[in-house]
Amino acid sequence: MQMEQDLHVALESGQLALHFQPIFDATGHRHRGAEVLLRWNHPERGTTAPADFIPLAEATGQILGIGHWVLDQACRKWLEWHEAGIDPGFLAINISRVQFRKRFSRTLIDLMTHYGIPAHALELEITESVLLDDHQEVNEELTSLRAVGLKLSLDDFGTGYSSLSYLKRFRFDVLKIDRSFVAGVPGNPDDVSLVKAILAMAKGLDLEVVAEGVETNDQLRFLRQQGCDLAQGYLFAKPMDADAYCVYLQSRRGEPERARIAVAS
Ligand code: C2E
Ligand code: MG
Ligand code: MG
Repeated sequence: MQMEQDLHVALESGQLALHFQPIFDATGHRHRGAEVLLRWNHPERGTTAPADFIPLAEATGQILGIGHWVLDQACRKWLEWHEAGIDPGFLAINISRVQFRKRFSRTLIDLMTHYGIPAHALELEITESVLLDDHQEVNEELTSLRAVGLKLSLDDFGTGYSSLSYLKRFRFDVLKIDRSFVAGVPGNPDDVSLVKAILAMAKGLDLEVVAEGVETNDQLRFLRQQGCDLAQGYLFAKPMDADAYCVYLQSRRGEPERARIAVAS
């Protein structure tokens, strides 16, 4: 109950913050975008991870306000960086099942129109729990989102229901392999088999694949060899706040420039 009350104040008093974790192509060289991850800077408890408050926010319905705030802030940040001449790549935003039920596509499309955000700037990450709701409604929402050119990503693949029929019934663009599988490659034969199978299946369905939780070069090499497209994890960077991400983007912007100069001279 205390946490529920605290969460009410959190939104109004600016205790919530977006963090950004870079996503790279599997060569590890090309920065493609970032996942947007919510943090709660509680005055007494300190930084609280989303796993500790999002389930509560979903149960109380507070996720609607919080989720809207996340979308709004992500759009603002993208625009701010873009206008400053910094290419932030895409921002992948996690969407809760509860948010998705409430005519989510309308809310998001209105926001994008309001800020003038192009569809390639955003990706939406949803988990299979969303797909358990009324199939027709979910399909209509997904169709509206894809119609404006937004990419849809199936998050945490392999941990939830992993019903293959969902992959047939609902069209996704991206599949994210859960980090619990990535943790075991290339050493654990079971994880190796599972990751290979997920990649083969995803390729057959023409899905782009992102590996989550890549922490070592061995993992990245294995994933690249198996045809994984993109990777995200502590090997590249931990999630960072907006200011740090902006500095990170600016520092990367110099890199190809420096390389070109080096080659030219
Ligand atoms: P997720 O969407 O699967 O996000 C990936 C999680 O893996 C993040 O945890 C990230 O910090 C963590 N991670 C990334 N790379 C590594 C790595 O190399 N090693 C390890 N050990 N961990 C890594 P985080 O930020 O605690 O988020 C947990 C979950 O909370 C997210 O899982 C997502 O489901 C949810 N979440 C986060 N932000 C939001 C939000 O704005 N809205 C909603 N509805 N859910 C959110
Ligand atoms: Mg995610
Ligand atoms: Mg995930």
